[in-house]
Amino acid sequence: MSVRIRAAVAWEAGAKLSIEEFDLDDPRDDEILVRVEATGVCHTDESSRLGLLPVVYPIILGHEGSGTVEAAGKDVTRVKAGDKVLFTPDYCGTCEQCVLGYTPYCEQAIPVTFTGTRPDGSPRAHAAGGRPVRASFFGQSSFATHSLVTERNIVPVPRDAPLHYLAGFTCGVQTGAGVMLNAIGVAPHQTVAVFGTGAVGLAAVMAAHASGAREIVAVDRVRHRLDLALELGATQAVDTTGQELADVTAQVVRAAGKGGADAILDTTGNPQVILAAVNSAAKHGTISVITSSGKDVTIPPGALLVTGRTLRGTMGGHINPTVFIPRLLDLHAQGRFPVDRLVKNYPFAEVNTAIADSLSGATIKPVLTF
Ligand SMILES: [Zn+2]
Ligand SMILES: [Zn+2]
Repeated sequence: MSVRIRAAVAWEAGAKLSIEEFDLDDPRDDEILVRVEATGVCHTDESSRLGLLPVVYPIILGHEGSGTVEAAGKDVTRVKAGDKVLFTPDYCGTCEQCVLGYTPYCEQAIPVTFTGTRPDGSPRAHAAGGRPVRASFFGQSSFATHSLVTERNIVPVPRDAPLHYLAGFTCGVQTGAGVMLNAIGVAPHQTVAVFGTGAVGLAAVMAAHASGAREIVAVDRVRHRLDLALELGATQAVDTTGQELADVTAQVVRAAGKGGADAILDTTGNPQVILAAVNSAAKHGTISVITSSGKDVTIPPGALLVTGRTLRGTMGGHINPTVFIPRLLDLHAQGRFPVDRLVKNYPFAEVNTAIADSLSGATIKPVLTF
């Protein structure tokens, strides 16, 4: 038996996403069939479509899904039909990193995320004629009317939860918030700078604000994003348009006070911006990178040495989603994490437009609805 679904498939690297009908397997004993109601669009979908990540085709993309449980296998105990869930990126659940609670660093991250099959190699979906189609991208492939997930990669939410914007919670938003709240752990007396105010950066701004940071400096070249950052808790904005990065650094240091910022997030991956971020840090400040352009960063050791600064990497917010996502939802319920301000909804049929608007920066966080 199977379920007939409509899903956005990438037939090969570089091909435009095409919405077509497929047969999705019935849930196995450990799987949950979810009718997808909303799914966020993220730059990782586009990098995967283009073949810049180790994806295997054909594959159904989408990795920030949410919806209503329709059926569950006999081993599933956490949810039942009718429950609402957010999907998180999948992980193996048994390696040392997963057991420690750092699931974004899972030893099996590449196969679990990009191969698009179950651990036993089966594809979860088929096209007409029986051709296998991979439907386990990030353990979910949620650019689809239905997804199969497991208890590992869901977070139950209340039945009245506004999925049309909460769907964007579980990847970039969790990353930006996790850097501030979890990886660095910003304290109320500290100062923060955020380089790049897309969805990840704005999530970091909101999280820093929620944690009571004294100054929050937003840095970007797009004015409307800086204006939104100021509304969401940034205390100062630095517009980099037409500026030398040395001047940007001087402005951030001045704005942060105390000789620089204690906690800095770079969301750009740009080597020059990362160097500017390092030079904007206070003594003993921490600078986190969360993405890579693939290009080398040149940093004189003295920029870290005489200041006691730490440059670190943070994957997926450095969190366990089962614990962290409910905390973010709680902050949201208190009005202290207004993620809805980042989101614009698009009907599923406009998936390619939503991706284009995300890349151009016209929309900060597109969320598809079904
Ligand atoms: Zn993502
Ligand atoms: Zn693992």
